[in-house]
Amino acid sequence: MGSATAWALARRGREVLLAERFEPGHAMGASHGEFRNFNVAYSEPDYVAMLVEARCLWEELEAASGAELLDLVGLVNHGEGPGNGDGESRASFDAVRAALAGTGVRSEFLRPEEAHERWPGMRFDTRVLFSPDSGRVRADASVAALQQVATSLGAEVRHATRAVDIRVADDHADVDLETDGRVATVRARSLVVTAGAWTEKLLGDRIRLPRLVVTQEQPAHFALRPALGGDAWPSFNHLHDRSSESGDYWYSDVYGMLTPGEGVKVGWHGTGLVTDPDARTFESEPVQLEALRRYAADWLPGVDPDDFAEISCTYTSTDTTDFVLDRVGPVTVGAGFSGHGFKFTPTVGRILADLATAGDRPPSRFALAR
Ligand SMILES: Cc1cc2nc3c(=O)[nH]c(=O)nc-3n(C[C@H](O)[C@H](O)[C@H](O)COP(=O)(O)OP(=O)(O)OC[C@H]3O[C@@H](n4cnc5c(N)ncnc54)[C@H](O)[C@@H]3O)c2cc1C
Repeated sequence: MGSATAWALARRGREVLLAERFEPGHAMGASHGEFRNFNVAYSEPDYVAMLVEARCLWEELEAASGAELLDLVGLVNHGEGPGNGDGESRASFDAVRAALAGTGVRSEFLRPEEAHERWPGMRFDTRVLFSPDSGRVRADASVAALQQVATSLGAEVRHATRAVDIRVADDHADVDLETDGRVATVRARSLVVTAGAWTEKLLGDRIRLPRLVVTQEQPAHFALRPALGGDAWPSFNHLHDRSSESGDYWYSDVYGMLTPGEGVKVGWHGTGLVTDPDARTFESEPVQLEALRRYAADWLPGVDPDDFAEISCTYTSTDTTDFVLDRVGPVTVGAGFSGHGFKFTPTVGRILADLATAGDRPPSRFALAR
């Protein structure tokens, strides 16, 4: 999110310094790894509008960086039932289709047998909402592309540089940046903080934030069973139907996508152990992992549930899973992306750049005061 904001500000000719505490390509936060789902199945007009904008901005970033970032392999949502909760797909598929109508984003319903015929590596027992204008977006490559293009437009990107103190005045902020043990103070007319899991630590006593819960999420890559479906995989979301017995071991909705060369990534959504980002174990909680393997055995005949590689990553979630995109004085905050922010990244960058330059405010659902 910070890298996307640096790009958006540099495009406007602003003087930008991006400070990142770790090295390029680090795996300490929420944006590392090969892919994230680019899922369009939202029913809220705010999010749908942000997604439509994001698609255009991702393509602009691809053109500016020369990198392939969006991979529209299609995405299936399934598992509708009376016991669906309030996961990422927070509305009925009919409401999603209604929200997408007229936006140019295509979607269609498939019968479970039709879907299984197309993707024999997956099992379906409900109707399936398929969108060909969805799929996956490259994570590490996107962060690198954003920083590369921002730098080409004059932004300065400093890695291994940690903000250790922030002093906020009415019209500026002084930030102490530590690099190799040496601290230098930078004065900024406008300060954007997108510190992910560290937001509360960095800003908590300076700005009134909504509750932000940091969890250590533990998806896994499961090896493909080439005989069953090969690499014909859409990205997917499988809603948890709490009323069905077959789902009694589920922790939450399930999401996933194929990562060529690594297998099929599968994960529970927002159920990781609450964690301190500076004291992570990077180890999977074994009971959840066992349940994830059982899910793979029950619903993904195209993968081997015994052959897997664990992933560790952080979610920073708000109670409503709505993002925080707001400004107080000279400080703009982008936080609480609640495990579903990546697809929106360039639009979030545009919104934070608007806020940082005293421009438009985003819809109230993103306000600090909620
Ligand atoms: C397992 C997993 C699966 C996901 N799947 C999806 C998906 O399929 N689709 C989707 O849309 N989204 C998904 N997401 C969510 C998405 O990845 C996040 O919303 C997004 O990456 C958040 O970006 P961020 O910039 O806020 O956080 P981060 O990338 O964590 O960035 C925060 C940065 O701030 C830096 N920082 C912190 N403190 C300081 C300091 N004091 N000084 C300097 N720098 C500092 C950190 O080093 C870090 O690089 C997933 C997330 C996870 C963890």
